[in-house]
Amino acid sequence: MQPQIEDFTHYLIMALKIVVLAKQVPDTRNVGKDAMTAEGTVNRAALPAIFNPEDLNALEQALRLKEQHPGSTVGILTMGPPRAGEIIRQGLYRGADTGWLLTDRLFAGADTLATSYALATAIKKIGDVDIVIGGRQAIDGDTAQVGPQVAQKLGLNQVTYAEEVLSVNDGKATIKRVIDGGVETVEAPLPVVITVNGSAAPCRPQNAKLVMKYKRATCPMERSLTPDPSPKGEGSDYSYLYEERPYLTLNQWSVADVDGDVNQCGLAGSPTKVKAIKNIVFQAKESKTLTGSDADINSLIQELLNEKIIG
Ligand SMILES: Cc1cc2nc3c(=O)[nH]c(=O)nc-3n(C[C@H](O)[C@H](O)[C@H](O)COP(=O)(O)OP(=O)(O)OC[C@H]3O[C@@H](n4cnc5c(N)ncnc54)[C@H](O)[C@@H]3O)c2cc1C
Repeated sequence: MQPQIEDFTHYLIMALKIVVLAKQVPDTRNVGKDAMTAEGTVNRAALPAIFNPEDLNALEQALRLKEQHPGSTVGILTMGPPRAGEIIRQGLYRGADTGWLLTDRLFAGADTLATSYALATAIKKIGDVDIVIGGRQAIDGDTAQVGPQVAQKLGLNQVTYAEEVLSVNDGKATIKRVIDGGVETVEAPLPVVITVNGSAAPCRPQNAKLVMKYKRATCPMERSLTPDPSPKGEGSDYSYLYEERPYLTLNQWSVADVDGDVNQCGLAGSPTKVKAIKNIVFQAKESKTLTGSDADINSLIQELLNEKIIG
């Protein structure tokens, strides 16, 4: 009888290739009266640009998986203007290994369909990705559509509203996710797209050593757009750094670099046109005190319906 050879593969901890979808967003949590331009678009100059909060929760889950699976890599993928390179740096300061900035005028004005097309195309170029993980929702567009759309475009399984990635074994991810009235634990074969809730563990802070290591990391277009930082204005002061430390030059991809179809990118690829954005800043004089009576509740619901705030 043949001796039984124990299959040790499931003891092997596989190294994971993880891509974090991270968006640079205007900090809409503190909108003031100049948050919108007269044309009804977001006045991005008036609002500080930040790392989308739920994408930080996604990054934390990715970094924990990297710790549990030696040899794994975490890369930040972001689509935006050149200054969105800052999102990659903030990921590197927390422990990510690399990043890709999708930037090109042809990507501009993208709705969620065009955004997810661009991100999916870039993920195909990155190749052999085990886990794509992003936030459930961005605080500016607020559609929560991009994650599921990326999964659909890549033909991958998706797990949304994730609270925690419990484990990855035997080519499957076990995930705790939020559902109405509770949580459930699901299993999904890799590769998988995961969207993470804001109620998941907060992201670890930036690491001082990593900040020192990556503070000059830039995408080429950022470098050409930002004035020369060297005190004496002699450009050469820092350029040697980029030769010496190639990891300081972040990946920057255009539509052509990812072999994208220009008709599916940016405004051209966006059936959704944002007609106008109303700037609703509540003033104290509008508040009303209601009792819990049916009449009061009914009148409130009617008012919200009339204002098209609900329904
Ligand atoms: C006020 C407003 C309303 C809008 N309404 C619509 C609309 O109704 N329909 C529509 O199609 N578009 C809409 N848009 C455009 C939409 O914001 C953009 O398409 C955006 O790039 C993606 O949608 P989102 O912000 O809703 O992201 P969400 O779908 O909420 O984002 C979910 C996750 O996807 C990832 N992600 C999203 N964008 C990026 C990115 N650029 N780079 C990397 N990762 C990313 C992040 O992980 C994010 O947490 C609106 C924009 C604004 C400002």
